[in-house]
Amino acid sequence: MSILEETKFLMKKYHINANKNLGQNFLIDDETVDNIISAANIQPNDLIIEIGPGLGTLTARLLEKASKVIAIELDNEMITILQDRFQFYNNFELIHQDVLKVNLKQKITENANNISSVKIVANLPYYITTPIIMKLLEEHLPIESITVMVQKEVADRLTATPGKKNTGAITYCISYYCEAQEVLFVPNTSFLPSPEVNSAVIHLLIRKNPPVIVRDETFFFRVIQASFMQRRKTLLNGLSNSNIAPKDTLKQMLKDLQLDENIRGETLDLQQFSQISNYLTKSNGDIDNF
Ligand code: SAM
Repeated sequence: MSILEETKFLMKKYHINANKNLGQNFLIDDETVDNIISAANIQPNDLIIEIGPGLGTLTARLLEKASKVIAIELDNEMITILQDRFQFYNNFELIHQDVLKVNLKQKITENANNISSVKIVANLPYYITTPIIMKLLEEHLPIESITVMVQKEVADRLTATPGKKNTGAITYCISYYCEAQEVLFVPNTSFLPSPEVNSAVIHLLIRKNPPVIVRDETFFFRVIQASFMQRRKTLLNGLSNSNIAPKDTLKQMLKDLQLDENIRGETLDLQQFSQISNYLTKSNGDIDNF
């Protein structure tokens, strides 16, 4: 049975109408599913966390390859299908909850025995792509990689090079925590129902060590956020409007770091942002734990 036939069969059997509010666009293309599974590079001892399993299309393939699959789904109707479909699998755990509320660190710790690495694989619900990715990164989870489907435009932003085209504050965050790659273009015809926009699969390999030294991570990301908040403004105005530091301090900083007073945040790379945030942390007198 093809994935399209499988999807139609399940939707009919369980009287499912895709719920737009929950970002339900089900994968119906066999080749795309195979490509996601191979991009995730799943090994027999891996623990896989799948976010938004839906009807279980990816889940079924993940269960064949991994030691264990933990699937997190919010929708009641999907839960019924998943419970039926995978009831005889002893390597399947289903969590019926909003992924943003799940204590993932605890879940991973509970399952750490005989696991070589933890990987995230998902066709993400698009309305919360950014909060999900930020949660996975900011919680410093012991995961090796994240292989997820996102909107094409978002994929471009997430995998852009800091200081170059298509960036946003999140580009810097991704670059700080991961090596990011866009691995697959996926046309909107690969989903049922078909969304308005195309998609792409990205692979984020979590770095063991950050590429730049930062005194205070929270402040570093606040500085980046502030300089992207008002895109058309100069870095100086963006940072001063967000009360990152007094204007005089910022002017002196630009001088000391040999940056033009009219420079825009989006032209800076990760190293330059780390210099700025370290400079300002130092000028706040916090040099003890550097
Ligand atoms: N994995 C399936 C596939 O590829 O066909 C479905 C993917 S669909 C794009 C996104 C899934 O995420 C849906 O099943 C939806 O119900 C689920 N979802 C939406 N919001 C969620 C949340 N906050 N927590 C967990 N799952 C959620």
